Amino acid sequence: MPFKVVFFIFLLGVSGVSITALLSYRLFVSVRRGGFWPRFRDGLIFLLFAALALSLSGLFLPCFPLFGEPFCGGSVLQNKIALTFDDGPNEPFTSQILDILKAYEVPATFFLVGKHVVQYPETVERMVREGHAIGNHTWSHHPLVWKGVVEIEGEIEGAEKAMQPLIPVPSKLFRSPHGWKNPFLVEALDKRGYRLIGWSRGVWDTDRPSKEVLFRRLTRGIKGGEIILLHDGDGDADQLQADRSATVAVLPEVIAYYRRLGFQFVTIPDMGPTS
Ligand SMILES: [Zn+2]
Repeated sequence: MPFKVVFFIFLLGVSGVSITALLSYRLFVSVRRGGFWPRFRDGLIFLLFAALALSLSGLFLPCFPLFGEPFCGGSVLQNKIALTFDDGPNEPFTSQILDILKAYEVPATFFLVGKHVVQYPETVERMVREGHAIGNHTWSHHPLVWKGVVEIEGEIEGAEKAMQPLIPVPSKLFRSPHGWKNPFLVEALDKRGYRLIGWSRGVWDTDRPSKEVLFRRLTRGIKGGEIILLHDGDGDADQLQADRSATVAVLPEVIAYYRRLGFQFVTIPDMGPTS
């Protein structure tokens, strides 16, 4: 997700909290001193605003447990870390990432975009061969937040059909583009037996920060049970613009750092979500 979008959502959250605090104070004052009408009016305004704030959080915060219960990490005590890569396949970067994962014997989870799968089927076959887990990240990567159940099912099915000939066991992991969700998504996923997967640490590698900045973001305060969100491709722009060389460059150092701390690498299914 672009940093600007995250910043906008953050501002929305901050304004939401401030307005809720103001409305709470106003409600408190009118309950103590006001007559029936001011109490009723302020109570209603407060409830409507709280409902709006809750809905927006459910739609736009990937791990907010409204509109689905996304799996966003395992237990801190597990000492396990799951590396996840979204928006690919995207060459040459996906193969470079696979080379590193193979050299360090690290299993990972790739959330694939259907329209990119048909471009690079051999890369998907290699992922499976080398023991990585695969997840569905829709056919086109269009945000699902304003879509109905039919359109959402079409997006899931499109990616399913692209992956089907390449993976022996159908994937039942789903990650929504940008982590945005809505009630229709819950319905579509339930119907098709998918588990919604979020993340605990996003590092904005899509904004192409330097390798040093990425390393800091990936290591600061790291703890067991984390699901790390990285990108090998770009879901929205043309893949040709998706330069993931910094992600590739930082990967060996980050793997070595996590290992020094005693963490074990696992795929999402091995971290333990149940569908
Ligand atoms: Zn994505």
